[in-house]
Amino acid sequence: MKYSALKGARDIFPPDIYIWQKVEETAKGVFSSYGFQEIRAPIIESTDIFIRSIGETTDIVEKEMYTFTDKAGRRITLRPEGTAPVVRCYVENYLYNLPAPQKFFYSGPMFRYERPQAGRFRQFFQIGAEAFGIEEPKIDAEILSMLKLFFVKLGLKDLNFELNSIGCKKCRPDFKKALLNFFSTRIDRFCPDCKRRFILNPLRILDCKVDACISLREGAPRVTDFLCNECREHFDTLLSLLKLLNLSYVINPEMVRGLDYYTRTTFEVKSETLGAQNAVAAGGRYDRLVEDFGGPPTPAIGFAIGMERLTTLLRSLINHTIPSPKVFIATIGSTAEKEGLVIADRLREKDIWVEIGYTGNSLKSQMRRADRLSADYVLIIGDDEINSGKIKWKRLSDGSQGEIPFQEVYDFFK
Ligand code: ATP
Ligand code: MG
Repeated sequence: MKYSALKGARDIFPPDIYIWQKVEETAKGVFSSYGFQEIRAPIIESTDIFIRSIGETTDIVEKEMYTFTDKAGRRITLRPEGTAPVVRCYVENYLYNLPAPQKFFYSGPMFRYERPQAGRFRQFFQIGAEAFGIEEPKIDAEILSMLKLFFVKLGLKDLNFELNSIGCKKCRPDFKKALLNFFSTRIDRFCPDCKRRFILNPLRILDCKVDACISLREGAPRVTDFLCNECREHFDTLLSLLKLLNLSYVINPEMVRGLDYYTRTTFEVKSETLGAQNAVAAGGRYDRLVEDFGGPPTPAIGFAIGMERLTTLLRSLINHTIPSPKVFIATIGSTAEKEGLVIADRLREKDIWVEIGYTGNSLKSQMRRADRLSADYVLIIGDDEINSGKIKWKRLSDGSQGEIPFQEVYDFFK
């Protein structure tokens, strides 16, 4: 019997893990300099939380959620995204009583029952950030420049930032009316899902991935033409701030995003080299979500970065810097072997990575292993060394070697 990972779920292990760790460290560093603090919400939540926030007629809720009933009959869902759980946590713990803005970041696995393919998995990882309590577009600009800095620090300088504003509760109805008007003459040619969306949530037709629907919606009204004065001004101010910060963008008036909770600013960061699944990060404002969850009116904005797509981009860019031990202790004979074990332990107390040889390995095979591990130094201990009280050392990079008294070995690697 041989087991394998579930379809669409992947193992991450060395050397790939070093890219993941670099991404996580970079995110933590950059996000901290913008004042974002880490938050960890559970991976399981009540199903309602996602239905209410992401929206009943979205692909995620209709087709992609991992939902099950637990032993007590509760409906539970493995989180398909990170924003709803963070908002739930924010409201449940009265974090809105703290001075605004409250800024958080998270990272971890998300689950969607999608058809596995390049850049699309059933368990995938996101790093995301959410900022609560500020309406002014200055924070939109900060969020976008934070994202940009994060990518630049990883060596990704030419990703495309696509922006849009999808309006608010005030201007959305006019846009919806215009959409209904446009689609009413041709809806019979759309896919069955879109026919349903036409009745329930016409905006979702704009997010349909079916080729026929994509071409049928050519010439559809654009949300940017229906923005109310406040939304228009909010968007224009954001754009001017982005110019000030030297962040180049393109406006994509067709981008509506696949989740219902978005308002005003939406954005995606795309790569030209990823193929069909080319969005590395995506996000936007969700000014009404906190209120929908029972909190006070609280504007908010956030994004999520797709780790698998990002690490795909980085794999060809970052040289796999596989860490290597500082010291390899090769021993000959049982007395030396014990001595080596003690020295290794004492060096490790000083945070030095030490590898040792194991019983039955000849000196030659131990040296070969030291070489393969790219150890900086090899210490050689045999009967001669025990008798003379000195250890032989060898630096593998240049072949230099010498001797040190046993007691001085700890200072030698300081
Ligand atoms: P897509 O356009 O790929 O369907 P989405 O709009 O469903 O993306 P979001 O929910 O906004 O994606 O998630 C943000 C990011 O998370 C995406 O830009 C992508 O990088 C990543 N992502 C989303 N779904 C998956 C998945 N199934 N597998 C891997 N990464 C994913
Ligand atoms: Mg999707």
